[in-house]
Amino acid sequence: MFKGKGVSVGIGFGTAVVLKEQERKIEKTTVDEPEKEIIRFKDALKQVEEDTQQIVDSATGTEKEIMSAYLMIIQDPTLTVETENAISNLKYNAEYAVDIGFNSVIQLFESMDDEYMAGRARDIADIKNRVLAKLANEETINISKLPENTIIVATELTTSDTAKLDFKNVSGIISEIGGTNSHTSIMARTHAIPAITRVEDATKIFRNGDKIAINGSTGEIFLNPTQEETEQLQKLQKQLKEETEELEKYKKLDTRTKDDYKVELVANIGTPADIESVIKNSAEGVGLFRSEFLYMDNENMPTEEEQFEAYKKVAEAMGDKPVIIRTLDVGGDKEIKYLHLEKEANPFLGYRAIRLCLDNIAIFKIQLRAILRASAFGNLSIMFPMISSIEELREAKKILEECKKELDGENINYNKNIKTGIMIEIPSAALISVGLATECDFFSIGTNDLIQYTVAVERGNEKISKLYTKYHPAVIKLVKLAIDGAHSANIFCGMCGEAASDELYVPLLVGLGLDEFSMNPNSILKTRKRIGELDRKECEKLANEILIMTSAEEVEKRLKEFADK
Ligand code: PEP
Ligand code: MG
Repeated sequence: MFKGKGVSVGIGFGTAVVLKEQERKIEKTTVDEPEKEIIRFKDALKQVEEDTQQIVDSATGTEKEIMSAYLMIIQDPTLTVETENAISNLKYNAEYAVDIGFNSVIQLFESMDDEYMAGRARDIADIKNRVLAKLANEETINISKLPENTIIVATELTTSDTAKLDFKNVSGIISEIGGTNSHTSIMARTHAIPAITRVEDATKIFRNGDKIAINGSTGEIFLNPTQEETEQLQKLQKQLKEETEELEKYKKLDTRTKDDYKVELVANIGTPADIESVIKNSAEGVGLFRSEFLYMDNENMPTEEEQFEAYKKVAEAMGDKPVIIRTLDVGGDKEIKYLHLEKEANPFLGYRAIRLCLDNIAIFKIQLRAILRASAFGNLSIMFPMISSIEELREAKKILEECKKELDGENINYNKNIKTGIMIEIPSAALISVGLATECDFFSIGTNDLIQYTVAVERGNEKISKLYTKYHPAVIKLVKLAIDGAHSANIFCGMCGEAASDELYVPLLVGLGLDEFSMNPNSILKTRKRIGELDRKECEKLANEILIMTSAEEVEKRLKEFADK
């Protein structure tokens, strides 16, 4: 048995698919029979073409369009002229000829200084890698099309990998690197897929085709599980299923404490497809739509039309229930290749989220126009991420007003009173929350980032993960400031960080007066049950006790005692 840190509960049985970065060294040699080498190259290219054709055939909508364009590049004879010349004239081996031949085409596209052409350069680089993989007889894995019951084993699953993942066929995720609040772990929880991180040497221990069983609660991994182990896990799986079924009765209820204090219980989503789970779990709305997943799931910037369709879908599916769409929050651990962002020494403190949008107004406006247009089809609000000052809020609202004027001029319908709110995830915002609250309609506290910026601990850094804690009294004081700031201007304060669904934390948040709890859809029912067991007065007493504590350990101990009583 192997062990890591469980970050998404559940039991998974399946077959390993190991994702490994291939380290490829390209040797330069010369060949005696260039004709044979040309055939080798053409065979490899043909296989890449056939694989792509298969994807095109089974794709629909935007993906089909994108992959058809990609296929046309593969089929364009000018792509391979340089490679073929390097083999025929210079007698280079196919690998080296592909390297220099494709690189010259890539450089040509890159030098055009055009967003679209730069996108094509990346497509060609991708084709080059796939051709080289075929020449080396390496297996390439398409993570958006996996066999049934796949257990993904990876060094690190990046957030953009996760955005492309074929979730319906994944029954577990094992990675060497990753934190509880990394976006990959958050997505695994949203899709109810058991996940385990920090499994040292996982990609060396497990091989493609291995039979694996995992327990996402305990972090246990069983390679070729024995019959006894399998039965034990099946028993646990049954128990989990029964617990989930037991929660069904909370679907019809709204969310109230024992003493009838009502709070909003809403869901976090990454893509329109997540709405299915939101509805299934009877969330009262969407408190956070992480719109950046629309950008990450694409090879190019999604157009206004594509975004409009995505937001409209969510708006219509939720009817009159509120849906908060967060504007593009890229950067940090969320990378978008086609934006060509410079590597930074401290990406979490860098050019990201609202900072990037305010600096790239054209990109920002496309998104704001799409959200505004979709607001005619449901109950949408707009939320700006990573606000650190009132000037940023004012600037973002000014651009929103410009978009409204544009739409007025084009006679396009939208909700003229659309609400605008901000994420409170930077300590400076919590500290000036009284002022911010007078200029927006709601707050949502993002504890995932708020914790990292308060205690100066990067959210995914394992070495210092013990210091990353929501129980730190400084974090709790900032949460209180944000809630009180919102209430001083009579606006509501929600929380969409992972702490909002933490069983120990929920009573504290009720006591602090949080109005809205937003979480992964699979946590909705158990949180509704937990809130129903609480007495608001007792929670307020608990919060007052905790607010004078000075140590995280003491806070956690007290919250555990409260939960056990
Ligand atoms: C947060 O920071 O708490 C949050 C909800 O946003 P994200 O996790 O996407 O950074
Ligand atoms: Mg955040």
